[in-house]
Amino acid sequence: MNLDEIVQGCAATELLYLREMDLKALQATITRVLPDKGNHFYLVLDKSIFHPKGGGQPSDKGRLRGDTFEVNVKKVIDNHGVLVYWVKGVAGSPVIGLVHCELDLENRRLISRRHSAAHLIDHCLSTITNEPVQTTDSWLGEESYVGYKGELPSSELLQKIEGRAKQMISNGAQITISFLNSKEASVLKNAPNFERLPNLSELRIVTIAGCEPIPCGGTHVSNISQIGELSLHKTHKVDDYGYRIYFAIA
Ligand SMILES: [Zn+2]
Repeated sequence: MNLDEIVQGCAATELLYLREMDLKALQATITRVLPDKGNHFYLVLDKSIFHPKGGGQPSDKGRLRGDTFEVNVKKVIDNHGVLVYWVKGVAGSPVIGLVHCELDLENRRLISRRHSAAHLIDHCLSTITNEPVQTTDSWLGEESYVGYKGELPSSELLQKIEGRAKQMISNGAQITISFLNSKEASVLKNAPNFERLPNLSELRIVTIAGCEPIPCGGTHVSNISQIGELSLHKTHKVDDYGYRIYFAIA
């Protein structure tokens, strides 16, 4: 089904996860229901604690419960500011009206730990090479990686980055979220993803205490000590732009 057709006439979803990352459950309103095959449905809600697939993050998962139905959230997709939930029926069929939303916390925690780890790798790469880094892309699902412009790092450099990141995780540092208007954004010109930022009226900034602020719409842990055991296990050259560093957390 065409996403543009699904969201036609819908107001932008209120993205609660941007400001309140700790919200695990929420009462929201389903404003649109469209059936899909195999007992699946497309839903639009007025507000969301679910992070959609995007910015390197896989979608949040979880479940929605109304008075007469329950569905599992399989995927959330952002279509020009309107989030579309692709869900599978567990009991009954979803209807327009109030709904109780609940995140799959285990999945959220894992993705948040990986996302904070990716920012930490940016920081360690930049401080060890003494050069600002430019990220190209990232993936925080299975086979997590961060992509950078430039030459493939040596295994010695990779070990140094891993060593520093591990030390910082063991020391711990708070992660804070703040917001800047677009005029204030020039202070971020050394951010690893500055070249890739969308032109928004407001930028969300994620800062690991003691590190450079990074514009980011993703979910994070509140302290890097929660990342756990980090390993950088592989690099891979990507012909057109640079390389990827693959990492894992345990
Ligand atoms: Zn980020």
